[in-house]
Amino acid sequence: MQLTSPGTTVGVVGGGQLGRMLGEAAAPLGIELVVSDPTPAAPASVVAREQVVGAFDDEATIRELGERADYLTFEIELADPDALERVSEETATPVHPHPDTLRIIQDKLVQKRRLREAGVPVPAFRPVDSAADLRDALDELGYPAMLKAREGGYDGRGNIPVERPEDVESAFEAIDGPAMVEEFVDFERELAVMGCLGEGEVETFPVTETVHEAEILRRTVSPPRTSSDVRERASAVALDVLSVMEGRGVYGIELFETTAGEILFNEVAPRPHNSGHWTIEGCYTSQFEQHLRAVTGLPLGTTERRCPTASANILGDVDRRQPARLKGVESVLETKRCALHWYGKREVYHLRKMGHVTLPGETVEDSLETLDDVVEDLTFVSTSTE
Ligand code: ADP
Repeated sequence: MQLTSPGTTVGVVGGGQLGRMLGEAAAPLGIELVVSDPTPAAPASVVAREQVVGAFDDEATIRELGERADYLTFEIELADPDALERVSEETATPVHPHPDTLRIIQDKLVQKRRLREAGVPVPAFRPVDSAADLRDALDELGYPAMLKAREGGYDGRGNIPVERPEDVESAFEAIDGPAMVEEFVDFERELAVMGCLGEGEVETFPVTETVHEAEILRRTVSPPRTSSDVRERASAVALDVLSVMEGRGVYGIELFETTAGEILFNEVAPRPHNSGHWTIEGCYTSQFEQHLRAVTGLPLGTTERRCPTASANILGDVDRRQPARLKGVESVLETKRCALHWYGKREVYHLRKMGHVTLPGETVEDSLETLDDVVEDLTFVSTSTE
C-alpha cells in the first residue's frame, strides 16, 4: 500500500455520531471523509472534509458522495441499497458492506429467516399482517411476546410487547404495517459481538455485555459477567452470522444469553454499533478504525482488548425537544481514565443518544460503579418554562 496526501476518501451515508467517530478514527490512517446527512451541521460535519446535505435515500446525494470518494459506506441502515448499487456502478466507486446485506437486514423478518436458514439459533417468530394473524401466531407462541415492525425500527421504537390476548388489537394498531412477532426471550443477559470482514480476513472483537432499559442501551461491559463457555459460544454464533453477510466492514451482532444458557441471535447491523463504542479506549483497534481499514481494503487491526472496560450512554433526560446543554461534565473529566464522547447534536429530546462515557479499569465492577456516579451528575439544563 501507499500513503498519499490528500488521502483515500471514504463517502459515508449518514453523518450522526457513528460518522463522527469514524471521522475521528480516519485522520491517523490518512483517510478523509465526505458524509451525507439531511441535517445541516450534522455531528460528523466537524470531522469530515465535507458534508453533502440530503436524505439518506436520495440518489443525487449519494451520487455526489460517489463522485468525491474512493469508497462508499454507510453508518445508517436507512441508506437505499438500490441507489447505492447504481451509484457504485456509475461512478466506479466500490461500496462496502454490499447493498445485498442492507436488503437482508432492513426487513427484520427477512433477516431472521435468512439467519435461521444459515443455522443460526433464533427465537421462534411468525410473520404478522393483521390482528387476526397476530392472534393466531400467539396461540402457538404463547404470551408474552414481542411484536416488531419489519422495517424502520431503532432503539426499541417499532417494538411492542404483547402481554395478554386483550392487547392484540391495540398492539397491531400501534405498529400499523407489516410486522413479525417473536416469542419473549427469557434472557439472563444480552451480549453483543462486533464482527469484521476484511479483504480475505474475518475477525471478532471480544464479547460485550449490553445492558438495556426500556429497550435502549445504557451500559456496555467487557468482558461480560458470564462464563468463558458462554463467551466462546457467542463468538461462534457471531462467526455464523458473519458468514451470511456480504461485503467488507464491521457488523454489530446482538445476542441473548437465555436463562437456559442458550445463545440466541437478536439482530445484526452492518455498521459500527453502540455496543462497540468501548473499543475506542478498550481495544488496540477501535471498531471505527477497523471499519475504515476493512472498507478501504487495508489489513485489519488486532481486536485484542487492552483492559476490562465499561461504558455508559448519555441520554436525553428532558421532556421536550430543546437546545442541548449538558451540565456536570466536570465529574467525567475529573475521573481518572474516564473518557467523554460528546456527539455535538444541537438539540436534545427524551432518551436521545447525546454522547457516551467510557471507563477502562482494573475490573468491570469498579468501572460500572464509578460510571454510575459520574452519569448521575450529568443532566441536561431544561429550558422549559412550565
Ligand atoms: P431495535 O432494532 O430497535 O434495536 P431490537 O429488536 O434489537 O430493536 O430490540 C431492542 C431490545 O428489546 C433488545 O435489546 C431487548 O432488550 C428487547 N427485545 C427485543 N426482542 C426481544 C424478545 N424477543 N424478547 C425479549 N426482549 C426482546
